[in-house]
Parts: sequence; structure tokens; C-alpha cells
Amino acid sequence: MPKETLARRQARAKAILRRLRKEYPDAKCELDWGTPLELAAATILSAQCTDKRVNLVTPALFRKYRQAKDWAATPQETLEKEIHSAGFFRNKAKNIRALMARLDAEFGGELPGDFDVLVSLPGIGRKTANLLVATVFGRPGLVVDTHFIRLSNRFGFVKHEADATKIERALQKIVPREDWTDWSHAMVFHGRRRCFARNPGCADCPVAAWCPSAGKAGAKAE
Ligand code: SF4
Repeated sequence: MPKETLARRQARAKAILRRLRKEYPDAKCELDWGTPLELAAATILSAQCTDKRVNLVTPALFRKYRQAKDWAATPQETLEKEIHSAGFFRNKAKNIRALMARLDAEFGGELPGDFDVLVSLPGIGRKTANLLVATVFGRPGLVVDTHFIRLSNRFGFVKHEADATKIERALQKIVPREDWTDWSHAMVFHGRRRCFARNPGCADCPVAAWCPSAGKAGAKAE
């Protein structure tokens, strides 16, 4: 098969997004939050955990911890107990406390909006920084999570690639900047509702016409 040109890839991505926007008009971050600090904490909790589970854990936390200094001052063991059901509770508690201590000490207790500053903070990698930039600050961000990775491979926009940074760079060239956030939400929604790791619903997939993996993906989890 001849190699697909960048222009064709871009056109295919455009068609996919147009169709997925129709399919999931309410696609958005599914973590519950009210303030930037709450979303930062919820995002750390969401690693290797479902948003649904995180949303069960966070209401009590958000009632108790209002400011960065409240989170930072709580003992490690207390926070560990409170977030236990979200998994990896030791590391998550450590990261949340370290992040909030830095925010309190260096940023007046506020979340900075600059991507490079965000990724320099404890517990915040590129995925989280992009999510915060996109969701809190309304700027374009490609949030490369497990669904994004799987679908990028299935759409043939990358080949057997698992490195989130390489995938982010590849998709930056394919998806127009102003669509990055919508694209990210569309990947998560489609990955959760149709394009499952195992047994994806290709038979009634709305974007099958633009997907080279239609009918071939998911015999084993990629
Ligand atoms: S056709 Fe199948 S593999 Fe392709 S996006 Fe749809 S569900 Fe996923």
C-alpha cells in the first residue's frame, strides 16, 4: 500500500473528528472538579484508576481541603487512608502533598497556567499538564492517555508506538492546533464507549470508513 501523505492524514483526522463530534457532542473531561487545585488533585488520583472511582473519592477531599496549604499540611498517612480506594495511594498521596506544598510556597497557592512550569511540578507529567492547560486554562492540549495511544495506533497515525511523547508530537502535525482539546476528548470517549482494547465495536463504529484497523483490531489488547 502506498504511504499516506501528510495532507491525506490530516484530511482523514478532520473527517474522524467531525464524525466523533457528532457522536459525542458532550465529550469533555469526566473528572468532577470545581477549582484548578481540585482538578490537579483529581488528575493525580486518576492514574491507573477510573474517573468514576476518582469521582467517588474526591467529594470528601474537596470538602476538607480548600487550599494548597491544607493539602500540604495533612499527614501522609491521613491522605493515604482517604485516597486508598483509588490505588497506588502512597505515591499519589506523596505527589499531591508535594505538589500542593510547591504551589503554596512558590505560586501563592494557585495553579500556574504555563505548560513548562506545570511539567516541572511534582506529580505532573505531559499528559496531566496538557489536561490542565486545556481544561482549566482553555488552551489547546493533546492529552495522550491510554485511549489516545490505542486509537492513534489503530487509526494508523503512528505505527506500533507506545511512547506518549512521540505520539503527541506525531498528532501535533496531523490535528490542527485549535482541535487538540476536542480531539483528546473524542479519543477518550470513543475509546471508552466503542473502540475498546479488546473486542472493539467496529461493526457499528461511526468512523470505520476512515479507520484502517476496522474489523482487524482487538483480537488481543494492543
Ligand atoms: S473501526 Fe474499530 S478499530 Fe477503528 S476506530 Fe472504530 S472501533 Fe476502533
